[in-house]
Amino acid sequence: MKIYKTPKSDQMAELGRQVIPAATMNNWRREVDPHPVYITHGEGARLYDIDGNEFIDYALSHGPAVLGHSNEHLQEALIQQIKRLHTGNVNDLEVAAAGKVIEHIASAELVRFASSGTEANRGALRVARAYTGRDKYVRFNGHYHGGLDHIMGGIVKDPQNPVPVPGEREGDRYSGLTNTLGRFSGAFKECYMIEWNDLPALKWLFETYGEDIAAVIMEPVMVNNFGCRPEPGYLEGVRELCTQYGVVLIFDEVLTGFRIDLKGAQGYFGVTPDMTTLAKGMGAGFPVSSTTGKREIMDTLTRADIIQGGTYSGHPLAMAAVIAAIEEYEKDDGAVYRHIEKMGNALKTGLEQIAEEHGQPLLLQGFPGAWYFSFTKKKKTINHSDGNEGANHKQAGRFAGLLFERGILSGWRMCTSAAHTEKDVNDTLDRANDAMKVLKEEFGSM
Ligand code: PMP
Repeated sequence: MKIYKTPKSDQMAELGRQVIPAATMNNWRREVDPHPVYITHGEGARLYDIDGNEFIDYALSHGPAVLGHSNEHLQEALIQQIKRLHTGNVNDLEVAAAGKVIEHIASAELVRFASSGTEANRGALRVARAYTGRDKYVRFNGHYHGGLDHIMGGIVKDPQNPVPVPGEREGDRYSGLTNTLGRFSGAFKECYMIEWNDLPALKWLFETYGEDIAAVIMEPVMVNNFGCRPEPGYLEGVRELCTQYGVVLIFDEVLTGFRIDLKGAQGYFGVTPDMTTLAKGMGAGFPVSSTTGKREIMDTLTRADIIQGGTYSGHPLAMAAVIAAIEEYEKDDGAVYRHIEKMGNALKTGLEQIAEEHGQPLLLQGFPGAWYFSFTKKKKTINHSDGNEGANHKQAGRFAGLLFERGILSGWRMCTSAAHTEKDVNDTLDRANDAMKVLKEEFGSM
């Protein structure tokens, strides 16, 4: 089995450290790529680095590359657009791009584009506050909504007063990854944080603090941690409670949108929130996001009662990407999603078989376009605390590292794309088999 070496990337990282903090633009890329690897080009589901290595890619740029890396329709649309207009301005593609989003995302009746998922979530919370005239919002342990001071990380010390405080918990990797210095000390006072998939906890919170709560924001599948899916009736229950208490329900579909299904998680599970934020898959790799929602709620922006700006919001290249990407997703009645399902399921079944053969307690959860792996004896986990309890994070980290050394880019989440082939999956399973052998030697078997 070939073990990948990256001497040129290591050298570039040395130079990089002189001009870029940690030689990376994103602190977590050190997690995704255990050491920085400088990519030169991509084709299909494969990426190539400056050492000439060929990787099979399941990181997919943190999720956006639903079409893989060299989709011709997307490339052509962008090449044509760059010749027509490539500077930010009110442009002739905005209406068509918004129309495409509205066509598929049930809660989206009006759309405002921005550039990043973080920005889209900031916009959604502002709209929800303006609409309700209330101050606080509710979020869930282990869900990720971007890098804003008040929404990233934190731990709850007193469940009777679930206002998070900065800090991390031993054995909780995510609380450590999101525990940043430089945060405004009062930031977390904006929100309450509870466990997901726990309807009584939300009911209690609403009964106790409901009059002050503007919004509930959640990932409808916990794709940033443990891949937990909503328990039957949970999303419906949250929907009902939000309606009852006049709270705006926001689905952060930055990752699930256009990845789990053309109609997003809301279409997949048949539960319509009041607002939805979208990004990654919506632009298939181009920097674009959107704050969307029901007309009545989004109309706070129509009246300019609230402000949402952005030099690059609605950028013509981003608009061209949204239109071209969604055109690809629509083709042949959603063939992209059928393909992703097939490849993702083959990957899951294969990895589970290999893990069983080597006595490794691998748990894969999520959906075919985004599996999250953990090493635990549990057969299923339903929220962050449950996922953490008893999970061996060292083993998961080592598995990701071993895969990387064998030419698989993933992190702990493995995303599949329309470009992954059976050969890609089979090659991956061969390499994963070799990685599991090492894991067994180092960690023993169940
Ligand atoms: N929400 C979710 C669910 C995400 O996965 C991410 C990015 N990982 C974000 C928000 C933030 O998006 P961005 O990095 O584009 O700001």
